[in-house]
Amino acid sequence: MKRIQRAAGAVVGSAVGDALGGPFEFGPPGAFSARFPAPGAGSEMSGGGGWDPGEATDDTQMAVLVAESLLERGGLDLPDIFARFQRWAASEPKDIGLQTEDVLTNGMPWNLAAAIHFQVNQRAAGNGSLMRASTSAVHFAAAGQEATMDAARRIAALTHGDRAAWEGTAIFHELIRVTLEDADPLTALPDVLALVHPDHRDRYSAVLAPDWHPEQATEFNGAVWPCLGSAVWALRTTASFEDAIRAAIDLGGDTDTVAAVTGGLAGAYYGLAAIPAHWTQPLHVPLPGFDGRVLHMADLLHLADRLGEGLSKRQV
Ligand SMILES: [Mg+2]
Repeated sequence: MKRIQRAAGAVVGSAVGDALGGPFEFGPPGAFSARFPAPGAGSEMSGGGGWDPGEATDDTQMAVLVAESLLERGGLDLPDIFARFQRWAASEPKDIGLQTEDVLTNGMPWNLAAAIHFQVNQRAAGNGSLMRASTSAVHFAAAGQEATMDAARRIAALTHGDRAAWEGTAIFHELIRVTLEDADPLTALPDVLALVHPDHRDRYSAVLAPDWHPEQATEFNGAVWPCLGSAVWALRTTASFEDAIRAAIDLGGDTDTVAAVTGGLAGAYYGLAAIPAHWTQPLHVPLPGFDGRVLHMADLLHLADRLGEGLSKRQV
């Protein structure tokens, strides 16, 4: 499979998972398959809970903000990403993580806001930096393992002061990178875990173990560890993009984000062509604070194309 098919699969797959999971946020386990019993029916992108059919939530909106900063600034410009996040947060998006909102609106500078929030609250290991990582994971893949994990940690740290969130985001970046290199991300897990900060390795080893099940989670899946563990579990225990997304949303809880992370991994793994067209057709990403812009499938593909330019150069 061409790398650009996998790169587009990661970006679009994450957005599709987010939009499908949005209407089920904070719902009970099994709600998705109760409403849509048969896979492949095609009517799943039907909205609800305040979301229009195909409307992506804050997860994808923030992923697009990161992508546009990387492309327009020609690389990682952390103050610029933070400023875009702030502009977006000030424009009353339909959904925004509690911690993310606090960090983006507390008036502190970009390099202190998250750290101070963590110092005061002592709890900052939400999945809010992991949920938006599909675009940066594609962009930094060509730069190699060290560079992509480093970038993941820095972008995560803009809103999350807890290193647990940085490490989870860095693992996701590296899993996408190896998948774009045609390696199996599940086989690569032990090697990836060896790259995790020692203070956080055991916790991630537990939720990424082959026999781990989301029912074993010790926190709500809005926390970074069970969110990543559940996404990897959904990829491991299913055999198609659609089934991975269904399994992720059926876990209940923070369904949009668990499905966004699952969709990023499964989209890279199975490639763009494996994502059902009846899911991508109604997909759209509003960008509050950015002149009423709404991205559609063609825009996301263009974005993925440009983010993955380094990959196609390496393919020669
Ligand atoms: Mg969301």
